[in-house]
Amino acid sequence: MCGIVGYVGPKQSSSLLIEGLKRLEYRGYDSSGIAVNTPQGIKVGKAIGRVRVMEEFIQTTGVFEGHAGIAHTRWATHGGPTQANAHPHTGKTKTGHTIAIVHNGIIENYIPLRKYLTDKGHVFESETDAEVLAKLIAELYDGDLEKAVQSALRDVRGAYAIAVLCDNEPHTIVAARKGSPLIVGIADSAYVVASDASAIIAHTSQVITLDDYQVVRLCAGVKDKVGDGGPWAVDFRTTTIDNVCVTQEVTKLEFDLEQIELGGYKHFMFKEIMEQPEAIRNCLRGRIDHREGRVVLGGLSGLARDLVRARRFIISAQGTAYHAGMIGEYLLEDLAKIPARCEYASEFRYRNPIIEEGTVAIAVSQSGETADTLAALHEAKDRGAISLGVVNSVGSTISRETDAGVYLHVGPEIGVASTKAFVGQVAVLTLISLYLGKRRFLSDEVVRSYLKQLEALPDMVSRVLEQSDHIKKCVEQCIDRDNWLFLGRGYNYPVAIEGALKLKEISYIHAEGMPAAEMKHGPIALIDKGMPVVFVATKGSQYEKVISNIEEVRARGGRILAVATEGDDNIHQYADAVFTVPDIAEPLQPMLTVVPLQILAYHAAVLRGHDVDKPRNLAKSVTVE
Ligand code: GLU
Repeated sequence: MCGIVGYVGPKQSSSLLIEGLKRLEYRGYDSSGIAVNTPQGIKVGKAIGRVRVMEEFIQTTGVFEGHAGIAHTRWATHGGPTQANAHPHTGKTKTGHTIAIVHNGIIENYIPLRKYLTDKGHVFESETDAEVLAKLIAELYDGDLEKAVQSALRDVRGAYAIAVLCDNEPHTIVAARKGSPLIVGIADSAYVVASDASAIIAHTSQVITLDDYQVVRLCAGVKDKVGDGGPWAVDFRTTTIDNVCVTQEVTKLEFDLEQIELGGYKHFMFKEIMEQPEAIRNCLRGRIDHREGRVVLGGLSGLARDLVRARRFIISAQGTAYHAGMIGEYLLEDLAKIPARCEYASEFRYRNPIIEEGTVAIAVSQSGETADTLAALHEAKDRGAISLGVVNSVGSTISRETDAGVYLHVGPEIGVASTKAFVGQVAVLTLISLYLGKRRFLSDEVVRSYLKQLEALPDMVSRVLEQSDHIKKCVEQCIDRDNWLFLGRGYNYPVAIEGALKLKEISYIHAEGMPAAEMKHGPIALIDKGMPVVFVATKGSQYEKVISNIEEVRARGGRILAVATEGDDNIHQYADAVFTVPDIAEPLQPMLTVVPLQILAYHAAVLRGHDVDKPRNLAKSVTVE
């Protein structure tokens, strides 16, 4: 969701914080702010809009000199995106010291806490839930910031990742989390704390990841002030909110700076679409054993017996991951012959679901932090399900809280509209289905054939990518249309919905995706002359039926854009524009057929003049329910 960065160390913190905020800006960006512990006390700066507005403000005011600072990009949940609501928020302690805090998440009991603190004499300046935390920590402060944070967090309900400063402890940042991600980078004589590894990687790859209800105190200062490790000494410790010490494992971040930079592309989304062949290669690497003709998934080996005997799979996810999950449902039933159902995590969680013995719950999430998906996972686990994670971010909450899992390994995804992670999720769900299918009833020959085609997939995706300019030209011809339909059947029905979602997300064009056959049960009423209707009409078991659906739309004047199989000459007589994908077995088609739809959405957004990587109202990972 939104972003937190904090720095304490020998360098001037403000420029590092701004640089970190820029890297996090894709996550949420209605306003931003910074607080630095300067020799004259804590200075706070806030700005509406993009981080560059903040940057200019800091450059012109020039009062942000100091070695410890915190910063935030906000994605408003409580109170509009105003200067007053932007973080950091502050509070005054009884002894007149200032506390400053940045917060991601939602404090659910903020109303009674706000009343309690108002009665105590605190004056609120914003409408946010976050300000309550600042005032509460200030109220509880008696000379020890770590202690005050611990006690405040014992009183709050909800989700938080926070970083806190106090002008009485100028070389310290205290940070904590519950439900929202927070990582601490350990650099040379400095600490960087951030809600996302992309703000840390420029400084260090050594990190510690906080667990829920953990508090970390980070100190860095000249030798006689902190510790005894050198002229600029550093010292950190982790505790729980109940002040129990925790031993932290230092881990290494898996990616480098280049992977999260644009590398010549104009937008992250386009870069990520274009790097899908490599992403799929990385996802499959080491997971296909040719000699034995089988899938190797080390993460599942401990549970293999239970999974093979599973009676039912429930996949829960949201957004694009939900569409990948729908394909997973088809794959598990088709290839592994195990009943499977994909559900919106947010609905599953609250409808008193029945979990029978032998149920496996799969949580699919790019970030591994999606709050709805995490809540569904907890529900399924509490009711006795075995849990699996299909996530991209290594070390994320879902990956740590599941019994086992398979990482996507597609590299960091920065674009808000998910592309390569979707393909990675489908690839992993395909691997899991083949892994189980082979152990259940799929013949060696069939498995080998799928594995061979999977390996050919990256080159096939490259052939689809070559059509980008052609797709752009076709989109130009209907870019003025405000309503689009996306239709497909079988494995390509979830692809159609995903295509519609992509278009909505970044071009703000209204689009609906549905099973092609469903169209005639109502939505056909929408079709008028020139309405763009995108069909996924590849060769397969339902090809003829899709052609009939195309005829129905043509008869009503719709403009047909078809995704078809290479060499299908027949399709041209029905379609106004054709985008081709190489021929591949039906269960593997979604990883190809989605690609032209991603490219289509991208060009539509650019043609309409929108900022593709920062679509309005959206955030990269949604860490509130
Ligand atoms: N709930 C807080 C607010 O609205 C934090 C939102 C966020 O995660 O950016 O200020």
